[in-house]
Amino acid sequence: MPFCSGFVCILGRPNAGKSTLLNALVGEKLAIISPKPQTTRNRIQGIVNLPKSKGRDAAQIVLTDTPGVHKPDSSLGRKMMVEVREALEGCDLVLLIMDATRKLDQRDEFAIQMLQHSSTKVCLILNKVDLLRGGKAQLLPLIEEYKKLHAFHAIVPISALRRDGLDILLKEVIGALPAGPPYFPEDQVTDQPARFMASEIVRERVLMETEEELPYATTVIVDNFEEGARLTRIAATIYCEREGQKGILIGKKGAMLKRIGTSARLQLERMMGTKVFLELYVKVQPNWRESRGFVEELDWRRQLENLTGARAEPSQPEHLPQSQSGRRIDAKKSDRKKIDAKKVVRTVRRDERDRVPT
Ligand code: GDP
Ligand code: MG
Repeated sequence: MPFCSGFVCILGRPNAGKSTLLNALVGEKLAIISPKPQTTRNRIQGIVNLPKSKGRDAAQIVLTDTPGVHKPDSSLGRKMMVEVREALEGCDLVLLIMDATRKLDQRDEFAIQMLQHSSTKVCLILNKVDLLRGGKAQLLPLIEEYKKLHAFHAIVPISALRRDGLDILLKEVIGALPAGPPYFPEDQVTDQPARFMASEIVRERVLMETEEELPYATTVIVDNFEEGARLTRIAATIYCEREGQKGILIGKKGAMLKRIGTSARLQLERMMGTKVFLELYVKVQPNWRESRGFVEELDWRRQLENLTGARAEPSQPEHLPQSQSGRRIDAKKSDRKKIDAKKVVRTVRRDERDRVPT
């Protein structure tokens, strides 16, 4: 039996359960999970290594968690759309994840239309079936309805939260992947640098500790990241849009910021395996979401370059444009895989490797 490997892009509306699924599959907490929609702004990759088992080949699945497909309405939104398109172009399979408890609407149809323009296979996942009171009787008509919209490679009902249906899903996914060697070393769980994950963790704590109005008005940038054998020093700035929000984030006598800092630090210590000294700052940056330059700075690769003094990656062919995740996006399907395999591994810089949780 051959080994299969490929890039699988998880697509779906905010709140459909993309991050929950990604985390369930990877078995590590990578993306932000929050009841508030649209918390995953950047693509986060997880890697699933599966041994051969009954009825399925051994495989490596490289998962990308994309921001939700939606119509662009600001600079941030447009950046997201570009990311979604890039993600589609570069992957072997799309997992379109839908909340089975919600009625299809225009935006869903918009998402499915986007997929029809690409030649990539699409597997439809109907998530949250644990919430369907009608069970199968409710599920079957839903499946029929979706079948009319697109020639899906497969339709798989699951509960990402309860991890139901994941085996069947994996079987379908692996069946759709091309044969080929793994892209990443076995012990690799994510290719996101620890620094970027640190900003995601702080942002998640902000979302969890503060109320409704704040989440979309905040973003976090890591200003300093120094890793030692026993202690990691991290300084990060939480950006918000108004003075009032800054007040909420800092709280009475700094109580809120302290709470955010403490819970973020505990999580960071678990991720890093060292003690963490975390300094948090809050700054007001009006309308950051509309500012193109600022949105671009959110890109982790750019952040990383700023932090490390623009250390370029060696031996990358210059004529090939890079997507934001460092993968080539323009290659023909046939030759893409070979070149990617080398490059992706190279993209995970040796010095980052040790920092990534396994
Ligand atoms: P994303 O925006 O698509 O990444 O969605 P999340 O993974 O953040 O999930 C959004 C919300 O739906 C969270 O509160 C999850 O706990 C919840 N959720 C995700 N999957 C399931 C599921 O299978 N069943 C139930 N009941 N809730 C789920
Ligand atoms: Mg998410």
